[in-house]
Amino acid sequence: MQSKQKAKALVLLSGGLDSRLALMMMKQQLGSKNVEALHFILPFGEGCCSDRFCVFGFAQKQHIRLHFADCTKGRLLTDYMKILRAPKHGRGAALNPCIDCRIFMFKKTKKIAKELKADIIVTGEVAGERPMSQKKKTLRLIESRAGLKGKILRPLSAKILPETGAEKKGLIDRSRLEAIEGRQRKRQMELARKFGITYPNPAGGCLLCEKEFCKKVAPLLRLKRKLDEFDIAMAKVGRHFESSGIVLGKNKQENEQIAMLAKTHKKGFLIIPGKPGPAAFIRKRSYKNMAEELIRKYSKHKITYFHTLSS
Ligand code: SF4
Repeated sequence: MQSKQKAKALVLLSGGLDSRLALMMMKQQLGSKNVEALHFILPFGEGCCSDRFCVFGFAQKQHIRLHFADCTKGRLLTDYMKILRAPKHGRGAALNPCIDCRIFMFKKTKKIAKELKADIIVTGEVAGERPMSQKKKTLRLIESRAGLKGKILRPLSAKILPETGAEKKGLIDRSRLEAIEGRQRKRQMELARKFGITYPNPAGGCLLCEKEFCKKVAPLLRLKRKLDEFDIAMAKVGRHFESSGIVLGKNKQENEQIAMLAKTHKKGFLIIPGKPGPAAFIRKRSYKNMAEELIRKYSKHKITYFHTLSS
């Protein structure tokens, strides 16, 4: 049997209170040298997954090595967009494919854990806390689909869940784990005081849980072409028309963001009004007249001329 000192845990650290506590509980049992953390940067992850700098600050303060899985570009983005386009386990109230999203993250975590030679995968999930992805039955489904049956330790709810391999092997002391269930956060707050940690306000989920935001994403998902980093970044800014063939800034900051994105990715054209007003990105020249009309509509000034710049 492996001794406790040799066990290494990889904690999925979203940055919220629950994952911070899971990390602290592991640190308490295994010591900071045997605990590492993994933070997923998802394409629409703001909200659920808090701010990466805040997560980094927390890990640094706790002397924990932190790894990032950046799913906003490359192969990870392609894989994520596949599940977002056709989730096998349905969606939540908006476009959020929470169950598939969790399976996706666990599959990637499994690979990373292997590379890091981690014995235990740990999350801050609490049974019954989130309606779609944290029911006991769903937790079981997710770990089985990710090929991690009995291998995910959830320290906050461990005592009301089946014993994991790590507990059976004696790598983790089950008696020091918690039995939290449901949405009440009283016990978590007590634990946070005990560990002396701060935490951000609870977030409702990522941008994919917001119906208004999803109006910009839904047309993108219907496009036949592969979506890239530029599409994702542009979806988060401005007013969208013609299934995002035209994007208009809502303020000066968004105008600058749109211009920066178009230039960085060398896509389409920029239309800048002759007087203060929204800047527009157009994917094709044929959208020029329509974009100028839209700029006039959303501008407080009478615009008589425009500059068209190719990116
Ligand atoms: S809210 Fe759902 S879809 Fe969004 S990041 Fe969390 S699990 Fe994934």
